[in-house]
Amino acid sequence: MPADLHLHSTASDGTLSPEEIVAEAAALGLTTIAITDHDTMDGINSALIAGKKHNVKVIPGIEINTEWKGLEVHILGYYPDMFHPQFADMLLTLQAARRERVIKTIEKLQRNGIDIDISDILAEAGGRCLGRPHIARALIKKGYASTQREAFELYIGPEAPAYVPRFKLSPEQAISIIIQAGGVPILAHPGVLARDDIIYYLLKHGLMGVEVFHPDHNARQIQIYLKIARKLDLLITGGSDCHGPRGKKRGLMGKVRLSTRYVEELNSAIKNNPTIMLPECKL
Ligand code: AMP
Ligand code: FE
Ligand code: FE
Ligand code: ZN
Repeated sequence: MPADLHLHSTASDGTLSPEEIVAEAAALGLTTIAITDHDTMDGINSALIAGKKHNVKVIPGIEINTEWKGLEVHILGYYPDMFHPQFADMLLTLQAARRERVIKTIEKLQRNGIDIDISDILAEAGGRCLGRPHIARALIKKGYASTQREAFELYIGPEAPAYVPRFKLSPEQAISIIIQAGGVPILAHPGVLARDDIIYYLLKHGLMGVEVFHPDHNARQIQIYLKIARKLDLLITGGSDCHGPRGKKRGLMGKVRLSTRYVEELNSAIKNNPTIMLPECKL
């Protein structure tokens, strides 16, 4: 009875709608999934409704990109109340910052002779939450790049001419707001970060778990993070970080199959939190 607790939909930079994700999860035999879009929970309600139809449990989630010592740190939040005022306000701030960043990037691209405007980006985005992958897809459509990776390398990645830095919270701020909204904060793919001291640091700020199972973690890293999680009494989660199919490349859903016992431990942590609204209440 496996689970996948890290999935992106068209509400952020994934290519499958929440309904398509749930249908694919059911076909793959997944019994529980979490939608963890970047900076938005706009995909959650459709996923919950589709989950009822396909008999897949859907955990509402979020992934927030933060910055710590100049490094990208991604914080996952499970079960935050998306209507919590401070939490909802934070999401709107992050989404507005994303839109501003896209506009600045477009201006830079235009100054570099690229024929692109905001309508091209909006045509690629399924929701309010814009990101560089949408710009990359528009560049590909217009023939300026052949893959997303190439679009990042040539135009919008950190070394490229149209790069614009983004507004970021600190991981401590993201953890605090997720907890305030009754959610469970988890450090995403720590192996990608390769700074394990951050786990000890964030523990003091309320971190409740680590994403041990992730396609970018090798067998050795999985063992290391299992050991750290057990030593520090942290929750253990995992997911494929699937963004859906891209061009000829299949999506990663099903690549990580998390044992249900970890989902039960996550759910127990929530049951001990009296502020939480379980997803059923939101329908
Ligand atoms: P943004 O949130 O707008 O900064 O875009 C970040 C997203 O772009 C990540 O979540 C990845 O999905 C994707 N991404 C980041 N770097 C690259 C890269 N070098 N090649 C392809 N996709 C990337
Ligand atoms: Fe992404
Ligand atoms: Fe991430
Ligand atoms: Zn992700």
